Amino acid sequence: MNLFTKHAENLVKIFLHFLWPVNCPVCGKPSEIICPECARLLFAEKIINKKVENLEIFSASFYHTSINKLISDFKYSGFRALCRPLGRAMAEFFIKPKADYLLPVPLHLKSERNYNQALEISKGLSDVWNIEIFDGVEWSREMPRRAGLNFSERMNLSSNAFLVPKNIHGLNIAIIDDVCTTGMTLLRLSQACRYKGANVIGAYTLASVSEY
Ligand SMILES: [Zn+2]
Repeated sequence: MNLFTKHAENLVKIFLHFLWPVNCPVCGKPSEIICPECARLLFAEKIINKKVENLEIFSASFYHTSINKLISDFKYSGFRALCRPLGRAMAEFFIKPKADYLLPVPLHLKSERNYNQALEISKGLSDVWNIEIFDGVEWSREMPRRAGLNFSERMNLSSNAFLVPKNIHGLNIAIIDDVCTTGMTLLRLSQACRYKGANVIGAYTLASVSEY
Protein backbone atom coordinates (compact mmCIF):
# COMPACT_ATOMS: atom_id res chain seq x y z
CA MET A 1 0.00 0.00 0.00
CA ASN A 2 1.47 3.38 -0.91
CA LEU A 3 1.69 6.29 1.49
CA PHE A 4 -1.16 8.18 -0.13
CA THR A 5 -3.57 5.21 0.12
CA LYS A 6 -2.51 4.65 3.73
CA HIS A 7 -3.12 8.32 4.49
CA ALA A 8 -6.52 8.31 2.77
CA GLU A 9 -7.46 5.16 4.65
CA ASN A 10 -6.57 6.80 7.99
CA LEU A 11 -8.67 9.86 7.10
CA VAL A 12 -11.62 7.63 6.30
CA LYS A 13 -11.16 5.88 9.66
CA ILE A 14 -11.10 9.20 11.53
CA PHE A 15 -14.17 10.38 9.64
CA LEU A 16 -16.05 7.14 10.41
CA HIS A 17 -15.05 7.41 14.04
CA PHE A 18 -16.72 10.82 14.30
CA LEU A 19 -19.84 9.45 12.67
CA TRP A 20 -19.95 6.28 14.72
CA PRO A 21 -17.54 6.25 17.66
CA VAL A 22 -16.36 2.79 18.65
CA ASN A 23 -14.10 1.87 21.50
CA CYS A 24 -12.11 -1.29 21.86
CA PRO A 25 -13.95 -3.40 24.48
CA VAL A 26 -10.59 -4.54 25.91
CA CYS A 27 -8.48 -1.37 26.30
CA GLY A 28 -11.17 1.28 25.76
CA LYS A 29 -9.20 3.17 23.08
CA PRO A 30 -11.05 4.44 20.00
CA SER A 31 -10.56 1.73 17.40
CA GLU A 32 -12.23 -0.43 14.81
CA ILE A 33 -14.37 -2.60 17.13
CA ILE A 34 -11.38 -4.33 18.76
CA CYS A 35 -7.70 -3.43 18.29
CA PRO A 36 -5.79 -6.20 16.52
CA GLU A 37 -3.16 -5.97 19.31
CA CYS A 38 -5.79 -6.52 22.01
CA ALA A 39 -7.28 -9.43 20.06
CA ARG A 40 -3.85 -11.05 19.81
CA LEU A 41 -3.29 -10.70 23.56
CA LEU A 42 -6.41 -12.79 24.21
CA PHE A 43 -4.81 -15.83 22.69
CA ALA A 44 -2.80 -18.57 24.36
CA GLU A 45 0.98 -18.78 23.91
CA LYS A 46 0.58 -21.68 21.57
CA ILE A 47 -2.23 -23.41 19.74
CA ILE A 48 -4.42 -25.55 21.98
CA ASN A 49 -4.74 -28.85 20.19
CA LYS A 50 -6.95 -31.71 21.27
CA LYS A 51 -8.25 -34.79 19.57
CA VAL A 52 -11.80 -36.06 19.97
CA GLU A 53 -11.86 -39.50 18.36
CA ASN A 54 -10.50 -38.85 14.86
CA LEU A 55 -11.10 -35.10 14.80
CA GLU A 56 -8.26 -32.65 15.48
CA ILE A 57 -9.52 -29.50 17.20
CA PHE A 58 -7.39 -26.35 17.31
CA SER A 59 -8.29 -23.49 19.65
CA ALA A 60 -6.73 -20.05 19.98
CA SER A 61 -7.45 -19.54 23.66
CA PHE A 62 -8.63 -21.15 26.85
CA TYR A 63 -12.02 -19.99 28.01
CA HIS A 64 -10.87 -17.39 30.53
CA THR A 65 -12.23 -14.15 31.89
CA SER A 66 -11.40 -11.67 29.11
CA ILE A 67 -12.35 -13.88 26.16
CA ASN A 68 -15.39 -15.13 28.05
CA LYS A 69 -16.63 -11.53 28.32
CA LEU A 70 -16.20 -10.94 24.56
CA ILE A 71 -17.88 -14.23 23.68
CA SER A 72 -20.85 -13.35 25.83
CA ASP A 73 -20.92 -9.88 24.17
CA PHE A 74 -21.28 -11.35 20.68
CA LYS A 75 -23.37 -14.35 21.73
CA TYR A 76 -25.87 -12.85 24.12
CA SER A 77 -25.64 -9.06 23.77
CA GLY A 78 -25.90 -8.77 19.99
CA PHE A 79 -22.36 -7.41 19.51
CA ARG A 80 -22.11 -9.07 16.10
CA ALA A 81 -19.41 -6.69 14.83
CA LEU A 82 -16.88 -8.22 17.24
CA CYS A 83 -16.85 -11.60 15.50
CA ARG A 84 -15.15 -10.70 12.23
CA PRO A 85 -12.11 -8.89 13.70
CA LEU A 86 -11.71 -11.74 16.19
CA GLY A 87 -11.80 -14.15 13.24
CA ARG A 88 -9.09 -12.14 11.47
CA ALA A 89 -6.86 -12.19 14.55
CA MET A 90 -7.52 -15.93 14.89
CA ALA A 91 -6.44 -16.48 11.27
CA GLU A 92 -3.10 -14.82 11.99
CA PHE A 93 -2.63 -16.98 15.07
CA PHE A 94 -3.09 -20.32 13.28
CA ILE A 95 -1.24 -21.77 10.34
CA LYS A 96 -3.52 -21.55 7.29
CA PRO A 97 -5.19 -24.95 6.80
CA LYS A 98 -5.11 -26.70 3.43
CA ALA A 99 -8.88 -26.42 3.10
CA ASP A 100 -11.11 -25.67 0.12
CA TYR A 101 -13.88 -24.38 2.38
CA LEU A 102 -14.55 -23.15 5.90
CA LEU A 103 -17.68 -24.69 7.34
CA PRO A 104 -19.24 -22.76 10.23
CA VAL A 105 -21.25 -24.79 12.74
CA PRO A 106 -24.85 -23.86 11.84
CA LEU A 107 -27.06 -21.81 14.09
CA HIS A 108 -29.60 -23.86 16.01
CA LEU A 109 -33.08 -23.89 14.52
CA LYS A 110 -35.26 -21.38 16.32
CA SER A 111 -32.23 -19.67 17.85
CA GLU A 112 -33.08 -16.25 19.22
CA ARG A 113 -29.90 -14.84 17.69
CA ASN A 114 -30.48 -13.28 14.27
CA TYR A 115 -26.96 -14.10 13.10
CA ASN A 116 -24.65 -17.07 13.32
CA GLN A 117 -21.54 -16.15 15.30
CA ALA A 118 -19.58 -19.09 13.79
CA LEU A 119 -20.35 -17.72 10.30
CA GLU A 120 -19.30 -14.19 11.34
CA ILE A 121 -16.00 -15.54 12.74
CA SER A 122 -15.53 -17.53 9.50
CA LYS A 123 -15.79 -14.28 7.51
CA GLY A 124 -12.80 -12.91 9.44
CA LEU A 125 -10.83 -16.13 8.86
CA SER A 126 -11.77 -16.01 5.18
CA ASP A 127 -10.53 -12.38 4.87
CA VAL A 128 -7.03 -13.47 5.89
CA TRP A 129 -6.81 -17.05 4.66
CA ASN A 130 -8.61 -16.38 1.42
CA ILE A 131 -10.63 -19.58 1.77
CA GLU A 132 -14.30 -19.55 0.80
CA ILE A 133 -17.11 -20.28 3.23
CA PHE A 134 -19.47 -23.22 2.76
CA ASP A 135 -22.61 -22.32 4.66
CA GLY A 136 -24.90 -25.09 3.43
CA VAL A 137 -25.29 -27.29 6.52
CA GLU A 138 -28.27 -27.16 8.89
CA TRP A 139 -29.41 -28.81 12.08
CA SER A 140 -31.91 -31.51 11.14
CA ARG A 141 -34.15 -30.92 14.14
CA GLU A 142 -34.70 -28.52 16.92
CA MET A 143 -32.13 -29.04 19.65
CA PRO A 144 -32.40 -27.89 23.22
CA ARG A 145 -30.25 -24.81 23.79
CA ARG A 146 -26.64 -25.82 24.32
CA ALA A 147 -26.50 -24.31 27.76
CA GLY A 148 -29.32 -26.65 28.76
CA LEU A 149 -27.59 -29.77 27.46
CA ASN A 150 -25.79 -31.80 30.08
CA PHE A 151 -22.65 -33.75 29.39
CA SER A 152 -24.31 -37.09 28.59
CA GLU A 153 -26.87 -35.44 26.31
CA ARG A 154 -24.05 -33.84 24.37
CA MET A 155 -22.25 -37.18 24.18
CA ASN A 156 -25.41 -38.68 22.69
CA LEU A 157 -25.71 -36.05 19.99
CA SER A 158 -25.82 -38.08 16.80
CA SER A 159 -24.30 -37.30 13.44
CA ASN A 160 -27.77 -37.29 11.84
CA ALA A 161 -28.43 -34.15 13.86
CA PHE A 162 -27.09 -32.38 10.75
CA LEU A 163 -28.38 -32.06 7.20
CA VAL A 164 -25.37 -32.03 4.92
CA PRO A 165 -25.84 -31.46 1.16
CA LYS A 166 -24.38 -33.92 -1.36
CA ASN A 167 -22.23 -31.29 -3.07
CA ILE A 168 -19.81 -31.40 -0.11
CA HIS A 169 -18.43 -34.65 -1.58
CA GLY A 170 -14.69 -34.54 -2.22
CA LEU A 171 -14.12 -31.14 -0.59
CA ASN A 172 -11.45 -30.43 2.00
CA ILE A 173 -13.29 -28.84 4.89
CA ALA A 174 -12.22 -26.97 8.05
CA ILE A 175 -15.03 -26.67 10.61
CA ILE A 176 -15.31 -23.35 12.48
CA ASP A 177 -16.99 -22.52 15.80
CA ASP A 178 -16.65 -19.98 18.59
CA VAL A 179 -16.20 -22.30 21.56
CA CYS A 180 -15.25 -25.95 21.92
CA THR A 181 -16.79 -27.45 25.07
CA THR A 182 -16.83 -31.25 24.88
CA GLY A 183 -16.02 -31.24 21.17
CA MET A 184 -19.12 -33.41 20.54
CA THR A 185 -20.90 -30.92 18.25
CA LEU A 186 -17.71 -30.58 16.19
CA LEU A 187 -17.17 -34.34 16.10
CA ARG A 188 -20.76 -35.11 15.04
CA LEU A 189 -20.66 -32.44 12.35
CA SER A 190 -17.36 -33.82 11.07
CA GLN A 191 -18.86 -37.34 10.95
CA ALA A 192 -21.90 -36.07 9.06
CA CYS A 193 -19.58 -34.39 6.52
CA ARG A 194 -17.31 -37.43 6.18
CA TYR A 195 -20.34 -39.62 5.66
CA LYS A 196 -21.18 -37.43 2.65
CA GLY A 197 -17.65 -37.87 1.30
CA ALA A 198 -15.96 -34.68 2.52
CA ASN A 199 -12.42 -34.70 3.87
CA VAL A 200 -12.54 -32.92 7.23
CA ILE A 201 -9.05 -31.69 8.03
CA GLY A 202 -9.85 -30.28 11.46
CA ALA A 203 -11.90 -27.86 13.50
CA TYR A 204 -10.85 -24.35 14.57
CA THR A 205 -12.35 -22.47 17.50
CA LEU A 206 -11.75 -19.16 19.20
CA ALA A 207 -11.77 -20.68 22.67
CA SER A 208 -11.65 -24.07 24.34
CA VAL A 209 -13.10 -25.03 27.71
CA SER A 210 -10.11 -26.64 29.37
CA GLU A 211 -11.78 -29.31 31.51
CA TYR A 212 -12.49 -31.58 28.56
ZN1 LIG B 1 -7.74 -2.40 22.44
